[in-house]
Amino acid sequence: MAYDPNNVFAKILRGEIPCDKVYEDEWALAFRDIRPQAPVHVLVIPKGAYVSMDDFSATASADEIAGFFRALGTVARQLGVAEPGYRTLANIGEDGGQEVPHLHFHIFAGRRLGRMVAKPE
Ligand code: AMP
Repeated sequence: MAYDPNNVFAKILRGEIPCDKVYEDEWALAFRDIRPQAPVHVLVIPKGAYVSMDDFSATASADEIAGFFRALGTVARQLGVAEPGYRTLANIGEDGGQEVPHLHFHIFAGRRLGRMVAKPE
């Protein structure tokens, strides 16, 4: 799938849409999800134009990959959730339930998160 530069996270990266930013560095931006599903629900996105984890893992540079995953861990520590723990989740494509076509990792925390994957109701 080609990258759509008009997706909502691309607009956030360009500053065209506001976000509740919690972290930013050369490689990544993190902001609170507008529809939180846990007491802490933050999205971490790479600065580069990558549709999904599939795209990113295949085509991003080693510096981008290292920078992004370092940022993901830094965000969790700065949020204070590394202890007692948190969950990261990246939805990929249609079956993965991905809604926004710019790679994002969810960070969920702040309560016991329960089963790993819930069946749709
Ligand atoms: P996914 O289903 O993994 O693609 O998740 C997309 C997430 O983006 C959802 O949890 C939405 O609530 C969240 N979202 C959509 N638009 C925005 C926005 N403008 N600011 C923050 N979060 C958003």
